[in-house]
Amino acid sequence: MEHYIIICNSTQHMLNADKILKQNDIKTELIPAPSEYGSVCSTAIKINAYNVDVAEKLLKDNSISLKGIYPYKIRKLEGLIDKINKDLNDDLKTVLKKVENGIELTEDDIVVILSSSGDKNLSSIFRAADEMRKSVVGDIVDIRAAIEFSNICRKNCFYCGLRRDNLSVERYRMDIDEIVQTAKELKKMGIKTVILQSGEDPWYTEDKIIEIIKKIKKETNMRITLSIGERNQEEYKHFREAGANNFLLKIETTNREIFKNIHPDDDFDYRVKCSEWLRENGYVNGNGNIIGLPGQTARDIAKDILFFKDMGIHMVGIGPFVPATGTPLETYPHGDVEMTLKTVAATRLVLKNVFIPATTALATVDKDAQVKALMAGANTIMLISTPSKYRSRYKIYSNKNMVDLQTAYRAVIKAGRKMPPYINLDYIKDSK
Ligand code: SAM
Ligand code: SF4
Repeated sequence: MEHYIIICNSTQHMLNADKILKQNDIKTELIPAPSEYGSVCSTAIKINAYNVDVAEKLLKDNSISLKGIYPYKIRKLEGLIDKINKDLNDDLKTVLKKVENGIELTEDDIVVILSSSGDKNLSSIFRAADEMRKSVVGDIVDIRAAIEFSNICRKNCFYCGLRRDNLSVERYRMDIDEIVQTAKELKKMGIKTVILQSGEDPWYTEDKIIEIIKKIKKETNMRITLSIGERNQEEYKHFREAGANNFLLKIETTNREIFKNIHPDDDFDYRVKCSEWLRENGYVNGNGNIIGLPGQTARDIAKDILFFKDMGIHMVGIGPFVPATGTPLETYPHGDVEMTLKTVAATRLVLKNVFIPATTALATVDKDAQVKALMAGANTIMLISTPSKYRSRYKIYSNKNMVDLQTAYRAVIKAGRKMPPYINLDYIKDSK
């Protein structure tokens, strides 16, 4: 069936448009706006072609500011099956033929991908995801940098080394000027997006977070990603108004039972609500999951991927579970690298135009896994840029790998990809 996408001139107009269309029984889907439209709103509305005329009239009558309505380009990967191993499992071949022909994958199709094994099948899945990545986001690996500014947390997530009951952690908090100063150093490296990450630390009140955002914006004009956990609707709104661009809040798993078992302080529906508020405020909306949680199945992961699609998520962080000393899961085995890579690949094939990091958690479990992720659909690396005196104390899991500009550069080159032009190569020894 043919589709069209509606691109609005602001997030507010996009959300109003979506509401009006739904009220008039027009089925809509929110998707990341394709980059070629260079829109101020990062989300587009996808509708069936037969609704275009009615939708256009409705939006005009309601004074919605439109950038335009365009035919939705189906991403076909023509010639894919010829490029990959012919000797595939039949079910997988059927799924990859769908990818070749631009047909949307179902939950069962994703389960086929996630249940595949053997070199020939896996290399074909990774090749397909790599072709999709190349076709939608190109060869440049976006490099972002995280400042882990506090390891104090009011919550007790079962998997996380920063949980409040873990008394073996030496806690720290960076003050506002120290955070801004660290961001200024990143600006010199050429970094364009800084990620401010922390435990859920109430010392950073709404006013303090706003002050940090405003100061970093004023001093560096960098894009700001917040990864500070659950807050209320008003706070998310005010952080966005102060200048935050992106937010990363992972659902971790869409299996409600597992979510409940590992989150003694959290409510699944509130976590989803938070993600909806982030979307409503026009954030570039980050989500993600942990692979290898107790009781998690391939079908659970397939449902996670479809949840990201339904929510119109723009960035998906996928990392294996890594055991952390001092937590209830400290003796539980780490998540499987192969399953994590298959999840990265399936996410690229289903969501297409999204940011997918090659995560630090992957690099922690297998030192080559970041390169493997870059070759299986990932297109971003997050540097750990926390000042060295605090770094070893931000132990969300044990033996956390250090990802700096040097290691990121090596991974990018080894994966045969390109560094972003904005990075100052004087900071990389190997580049000379
Ligand atoms: N407190 C904020 C939150 O929970 O969103 C941000 C910081 S939290 C440490 C960032 C992410 O770390 C979580 O979303 C979770 O996926 C990941 N994480 C924590 N412990 C982990 C573990 N043991 N293995 C893998 N990922 C883990
Ligand atoms: Fe705190 Fe986030 Fe760790 Fe949960 S995952 S304990 S909220 S830092």
